[in-house]
Parts: sequence; structure tokens; C-alpha cells
Amino acid sequence: MAWFRKEKKPRAPRTERLEIPPDVWEKCEACGHTDIREKFVRNHNVCPSCDYHRRLRAVEYARLLFDENSWSETETEIRSTDPLQFPDYQARIKKARQVADYDAILTATGTLGEMPVGIGIMDFAFMGGSMGSVVGEKISRLAQRSLEKKHPLIIVSASGGARMQEGVLSLMQMAKVSAVLSQLAERRIPYVSILTNPTTGGVSASFAMLGDAILAEPGAVIGFAGPRVIKQTLGQDLPEGFQTAEFLRDHGMLDAVVHRRELKATVGRLLRHMSGQPAAAGWTTA
Ligand SMILES: [Zn+2]
Repeated sequence: MAWFRKEKKPRAPRTERLEIPPDVWEKCEACGHTDIREKFVRNHNVCPSCDYHRRLRAVEYARLLFDENSWSETETEIRSTDPLQFPDYQARIKKARQVADYDAILTATGTLGEMPVGIGIMDFAFMGGSMGSVVGEKISRLAQRSLEKKHPLIIVSASGGARMQEGVLSLMQMAKVSAVLSQLAERRIPYVSILTNPTTGGVSASFAMLGDAILAEPGAVIGFAGPRVIKQTLGQDLPEGFQTAEFLRDHGMLDAVVHRRELKATVGRLLRHMSGQPAAAGWTTA
């Protein structure tokens, strides 16, 4: 009987693939959690599963900290030279410039929570965020702007240390930047230092640790020399979590560990507090 028989309908041919292309997925380096890239991006590149703070580019920090469309880059004309004629340095610089045209630090002025500020942001993607003459000079000039305009200075650090290819000229930047920061301190102009993963070597031994307030992102590695070198020198095992942001906070080396999503509000609150200004209308500090 025909009405009991299941009629087979010809299947319509599939016109589109249902699978999501593989380049849309991202995997967390810390816990292996896999999710669509957009989820990571919307979460400021923090893993939605384990809260691991992935590395951000300088421009992304600028967008995170500055008020929308309020900022413009400064000191764009400074470029590295090769004072020691170090082998391969010119070629490496040329290659790195394809990744970031601003050397290892992006400097800009704009507003944060409606307050005029200068922000310098190191970029690890440019030769490991190494501090050479350009980085030192750009920070000094940005700090000079803060002195002239009397607005706060913020530096976001991410660095493997001094730039070997510039030898002692790199090391000199530590003293140069420290000197101009002391002028800011004398004039009571706030300087907030933000340490991200990793902040090591000469950067950790100079401006990164000189902030009126020193903040760090969760889990960031912060230290001068690597743990293996210290272990060999001391001849003893190092405590667990040594050289992490949390360890340094618990031992009084920095003021607070701040989640990336709270970073702008926290800096805004600190700056208002330090400069004795009331919160601007519509500016939430929650
Ligand atoms: Zn994770």
C-alpha cells in the first residue's frame, strides 16, 4: 500500500560547506583551550577559559588605554642607526620595521578618561622589545612633553632587556630615562608604570620599576636575570612562582596585579587620585 511506503526524495546538493575554516580558531598557549578567534579578541586577548593574558601589540594597548580617536603618535621620525657596525644589525632592523615602524616603542599623546596623558608602549614583536637608543630617546621626549604640558606619563613595558647590538649606548638609556623621570617626580607629575609579560633586563632595572604606581598584568614574568642564572649564582632552588607579577606584588615590589579589562579604569582612578581631580561626568571607575 502506497501510503505506508516512505517516498525517497532526492537530496538537494549541498551548496556551502558547514565547517568553519581552520584559521578562525585560536588556541590558548597556557591551557590549550580552543575557541573562535573573535572570542579571544573580544576578551582583549585574554583566554576565556584560564584568564591567561596573551601578548598584545602596542597599537592594541593604545586602543585599550586611550579614549576612542583621542590619540596621535609622537616622535615618528626617530630611527635606529648602527653605531657599532654590528654584524647583521641593519638587516635585522629592516626586517623588524616590517612588523612595526615605530621601533620597539610606540609613543603617543591623547586622553585617558578625558585626562590628557602621554603613553609609551613597548612592542615585543620588534626585536623582543629591546631597549636601544631609539627607545630611550622616545621615552625621554615623551616625558619632556609631560613636563611641558604637566600631564601624566604612562609606560607599558614588554622587553627582553637592552639591545645587544648597540652595546653600552643601550645601557646608557637606563640612566637617561631615569634622569628625566626624576624631573617628573620633582614637579609632582604622576608616572604610572604597567608591566606586561615579559619585563626583564635593563627595562626592569630602570623606568619599569620607577613608577609612582607600578601595575602588572596577571602572570607576567618580571625580573632582571633569568631564573637559571640566579639559581646557578645562588646555588639554591628558587621559590615557586618566583618572578611572576603575583609573587612580586606579595613581596612589595609592585602595587597591584590588574586584569586587562580593568586596566584603563584602574589607571584613570589612580591618575585622578594622584592629581587630586574629581571623576569626570560619565566616567565610571568601577
Ligand atoms: Zn587558557
